[in-house]
Amino acid sequence: MSQLKDVLSSSYYKEPVPHIEKDSPFASMMERFRFASEILDLDPGVFKYLSSPERVIIVAIPITMDDGRIEVFDGYRVIHNSILGPSKGGIRYAHDVSLDEVKALAAWMTWKCACVNVPFGGAKGGIRVNPKNLSQHELERLTRRYTANMLDVFGPDRDIPAPDMNTNEQTMAWIMDTYSMKNQRTEKAVVTGKPIILGGSKGRKEATGRGVITTTLAALSKLRISPSNATVVVQGFGNVGSVSAQLIYEQGAKVIAISDVTGGYYNAGGIDIPEAIHYSMTNGFSLEGFDGAEPIGNDELLELDCDVLIPAAKENQINIENAPKIKAKIIAEGANGPVTANADKILEENGIMVVPDILANAGGVTVSYFEWVQDRHGYFWTEERVNRRLNRMMRESFDNLFMVSEKYSITLRQAAYVYAIDRVATTLKLRGIYA
Ligand code: GLU
Repeated sequence: MSQLKDVLSSSYYKEPVPHIEKDSPFASMMERFRFASEILDLDPGVFKYLSSPERVIIVAIPITMDDGRIEVFDGYRVIHNSILGPSKGGIRYAHDVSLDEVKALAAWMTWKCACVNVPFGGAKGGIRVNPKNLSQHELERLTRRYTANMLDVFGPDRDIPAPDMNTNEQTMAWIMDTYSMKNQRTEKAVVTGKPIILGGSKGRKEATGRGVITTTLAALSKLRISPSNATVVVQGFGNVGSVSAQLIYEQGAKVIAISDVTGGYYNAGGIDIPEAIHYSMTNGFSLEGFDGAEPIGNDELLELDCDVLIPAAKENQINIENAPKIKAKIIAEGANGPVTANADKILEENGIMVVPDILANAGGVTVSYFEWVQDRHGYFWTEERVNRRLNRMMRESFDNLFMVSEKYSITLRQAAYVYAIDRVATTLKLRGIYA
């Protein structure tokens, strides 16, 4: 038995986090991490090192509400690893954010950056809040107080936040301003995903969806399906889902179903995506009442017969229950963790090609890297240059991981983990342990 096997079978690593449920995002992340570590026969010490986050920060965020009451919200920032460079990752606002989820998402950022050769480590933040219940002023105070609590964590060379679920350019502008005020100088590179006028990058907003479609096109070509003959289903119509739907529609594909929190919308003849986007934007970012398609349930939508399924909503959408019923030929993970680890095997047995999240949705962090570089140079690129470099990095990463998957006869997801972990572990070996 290898040394790593000894460590893996010890009671601690058998159940790395005993209190979490089976489908918890952290458990899914760990299962894939363990599998890849075994393929690499990873040094047991390195396995231990990469199993726990470097830093976990939990803060209480008190704010004065508009009516004068004081409310307190829980906030998190998890730095999983900064071996490859400053840690990078978004901040999400959601009523059900948990530390388990933020820990998984932070580790996914480490693997994601390593997977597409972006020189950053991984982090993630979250505030447990339903942003719909807060006014714009309350959201601003919440964001500024969270930032104030993180002044010794954030920094252009330390930890760089970005938007994630329910946060946006405005949120980043507040973080940038709070950090800059405290440091008494404008520090653009402390966040990415800012408004362009504040030092944001052209193409950043569309970057995640663009990367999803670049990798989807690469996957379609491996299966010899022409995009203009492809049928596509997109779950989620936020920034990632709507841009993915638009770009694949522009390739001539038939998008037969889309969805948002108000439900699913199906049209076997193909949905007019520009019209759906226009409808949603003029309807408070909601598809409710969209008449270019028939209503369809979320379960039914995921199980539709199609070439490409793009889950771009949230975690655990494809799990042990519905995985056997998925008919798509390709799943391109726009969201982080939309497939649970125990569903992986079923999809693999059914011959479904999964373009894993840490590759498929890495376009966002890739253009975040471009934004950071532009801020530090004080020189800004054209949108054409951003998109060209993004497409090239995504395409090269896909081809590279496809090769790794063939070399070890493993899935693309396993290949992505093997490549990413190997990259982080090799860097760690070279740097050594400081003590
Ligand atoms: N929140 C995005 C992600 O999950 C982007 C992170 C970033 O750009 O730092 O990849």
